[in-house]
Amino acid sequence: QSEDRVFNFAAGPATLPESVLKKAESELYNWRGSGMSVMEMSHRGKEFLSIIQKAESDLRTLLDIPSDYAVLFLQGGATTQFAALPLNLCKPNDAVDYMVTGSWSDKSLKEAQKYCKPNVIWSGKSEKYTKIPSFDGLDQNPDAKYLHICANETIHGVEFKNYPTPKNANGLLVADMSSNFCSKPVDVTKFGLIYAGAQKNVGPSGVTIVIIRKDLIGYAQEITPVMLDYKIHAENNSLYNTPPCYCIYMCGLVFEDLLEQGGLKEIEKKNMKKAGILYDAIDESNGFYRCPVEKSVRSLMNVPFTLEKSELEAEFVKEAAKEKMLQLKGHRSVGGIRASIYNAMPLAGVEKLVAFMKDFQARHA
Ligand code: PLP
Repeated sequence: QSEDRVFNFAAGPATLPESVLKKAESELYNWRGSGMSVMEMSHRGKEFLSIIQKAESDLRTLLDIPSDYAVLFLQGGATTQFAALPLNLCKPNDAVDYMVTGSWSDKSLKEAQKYCKPNVIWSGKSEKYTKIPSFDGLDQNPDAKYLHICANETIHGVEFKNYPTPKNANGLLVADMSSNFCSKPVDVTKFGLIYAGAQKNVGPSGVTIVIIRKDLIGYAQEITPVMLDYKIHAENNSLYNTPPCYCIYMCGLVFEDLLEQGGLKEIEKKNMKKAGILYDAIDESNGFYRCPVEKSVRSLMNVPFTLEKSELEAEFVKEAAKEKMLQLKGHRSVGGIRASIYNAMPLAGVEKLVAFMKDFQARHA
C-alpha cells in the first residue's frame, strides 16, 4: 500500500481496499462522463439505477444468492435490523430462539424482547463469551419462529465455523453477519435471512444489506414502521425512499474488487493466512500474549488478545501507533488489544503487526 497510508486495525468503520478508494477518487466529481458525482445523482435516474443493479448482481455472484432470495440495501445499521427481524418474522406473542455468543447477539436479543418472546437457548456470558457450544445439546423450541445467531462476534472474536440446524417448525435460521460478511463463501440457502452492516468488509457505514428468502416477505406486524417493512423495500427494489446512494456505489466497487480477486474462496484463503500468522504469534509467545477464545471458534476477522503484563497494553497501543498501526485498543467493554483484519487489511499489515509484537515482547519480557 502507499507510503502515506496507515495500517488501520479498526473494527468498523474499517479499512477499505486502496484500489477501491482510488477508483472512487478518480470518478468522484464526474462519474463516467455523466458530469455528476454519484452523490448528486437522482436515485431514480438511469445512472444510479445501473449502479445499484450492478452492485446487487455482483453480490449475487459473489455469494451465489439464488433467485428466490431478495437483496435489500437499507439504512439504520445492523442495529435497526435487531428490531426489523421480529417485526417482520413474527407476531408479538410468538416465541423465537436466540444464541447469545457475545455483545452483539445480546443486543439483538434485548431489542427482540420488545416485539416478540425470545428465549435464550444458549449463553456464553458466564464464560466471558469465549465459546460456541456443540449444536447437539441445544434445546431449541419447536414453536419458535426462527433461530437467531451472530455469525461473528466483533467484540469477543468468536466466529461460527458451521451453523446449527434450526429445529423450529419453519426451519428458519437468521444471522447477523455484519463483521464477517463476504469474508468467505456462505451457503445462503441455509438461512432464511442474513443481514450485515457494510462498514467492516464491504463499504462505508450507512448501508445495511439484507438477504431474505422471498416467501418470508409480507408478514410484518401492523405497528411496523414503513422503513422497517421488508415488503415495502422489496417491492421498490430498495428505492422506496432515497437510499444511501454513495454507500451503495462504494459497496459496488468493493464487490467488483472481490470478484476480480477470484471470489470468496480466494478471499477466505487470504483471510485464513492472515489470521493464522497472527494467532500463531500469540500462541507462540510463551504467554506474553494470550487470546482467550477457544481455538476452534476463533474469528478470522477480529483477533482479541491480552498482555500477560496488562499494564503494558497502553504502551503497546501507543508504540504501534507510532509505527502507523492504528486502532489496536480492545473494545471499551473488554479491554486488552483487538486487531480487526478484514478483507481489506493487506497481509503486509498483519506481518508488520506480528514483527512489532515480537520486538515489543523482546524489549519487555
Ligand atoms: N452486529 C455486529 C456483529 C456488529 O459488529 C455491529 C457493529 O459493530 C452491529 C451489529 C451494529 O451495527 P450498526 O452500527 O451498523 O448498527
